Amino acid sequence: MTKTKKLIITGAVLLCAVALLCVMLFLPSSEGRIVEEIAPPQKVSLRIRAVGDNLIHSPIYNSCKTPDGFNFDGLYENIKPYLSVADIAAINQETIFVEDVAALSGYPAFGTPPEVGESVVRAGFNLITHATNHTYDKGYNALMHTMKFWSQKDVMVLGINGSAEKQQKIDIWEKDGLKIALLNFTYGLNGYRLPADKKYLVNIIDRSEENAQLIKNAEQSADMTVVFLHFGTEYTHVPTSSQKQDVEFFTENGADVIIGTHPHVVQPVAEHICENGNKSLVFYSLGNFVSNQGGKEKILGAMADVTISKENGRTYVEKYDMLPLVTHAQDKKYSAYMLCDYTDEMAKKHTRCPNLSVEALQTLFEKIKGIEVY
Ligand SMILES: [Zn+2]
Repeated sequence: MTKTKKLIITGAVLLCAVALLCVMLFLPSSEGRIVEEIAPPQKVSLRIRAVGDNLIHSPIYNSCKTPDGFNFDGLYENIKPYLSVADIAAINQETIFVEDVAALSGYPAFGTPPEVGESVVRAGFNLITHATNHTYDKGYNALMHTMKFWSQKDVMVLGINGSAEKQQKIDIWEKDGLKIALLNFTYGLNGYRLPADKKYLVNIIDRSEENAQLIKNAEQSADMTVVFLHFGTEYTHVPTSSQKQDVEFFTENGADVIIGTHPHVVQPVAEHICENGNKSLVFYSLGNFVSNQGGKEKILGAMADVTISKENGRTYVEKYDMLPLVTHAQDKKYSAYMLCDYTDEMAKKHTRCPNLSVEALQTLFEKIKGIEVY
């Protein structure tokens, strides 16, 4: 081998070594790369649990009197453990809060002690749907008082608005990048009229261009849109054609999940498919949550349980269920229970529903779930 050849080979070996060193120094460590490759796609899930009408009849607030006011904790204490697993725990606050004890009243124009709201918060509810047919039972001042009450709590309130701007603002619940738009409307106000210059106070279901635009805005600003509708015909288990038309309207404009209240009885869950191909999951009615109404149809309520997930940029309803619950009334005391915690011993003592049994409630619930909507 000549001297020149030796030099060329030595040079080449040296160059290779330097190149290898450079590769080792400047490439990301293999450990780093493995972590990147095997990291699972990020998935975010949000669970919603929602109950029906919190309907505070006068026997209920009378049963919750204390020496210095009211305490409603007992109404919700047996449901509380079932709310803590949810990110969003929603309740339909059917009645409005009044400042003055003299304005308290039951059916037909309800005025409710604000202490109900204190207990609702202590139970763990953090989403209050307030657009109901009783929202304007006590007029403007009570509505403003109710809004002020909630503004001091760490909850989201839907369906009532202090200004036109607030009505147009889409409420969004965000969890780790998953955004859920939340809206609430009622079919009407029991004949009460909102002041002509304050139509924004309560969201009313009408199939108007304004509402269509509101839902479209919600759809654009979030991954999923959940709409709470206070609608339907009282004491009817089968959804009406009017409910289905409302569902069609909200779904075609972008609602993905619809949760209904108002009929005082439970109605089934169904998927709605629109003419334009849009789809939604619809809980037509969750029935009563707390009330003084009697009879097994009206003491049986339901909890909607919906898990929404976002994965790889896709958002979908991962699972859902509807769970039965019951308002127990005994010795002028009221408390809501999940049906799975309710016993025949308690059922026998129900003062608003004679000859009650757990099986009767279970059978009724299964029958309702089996009703074919379409
Ligand atoms: Zn109602």
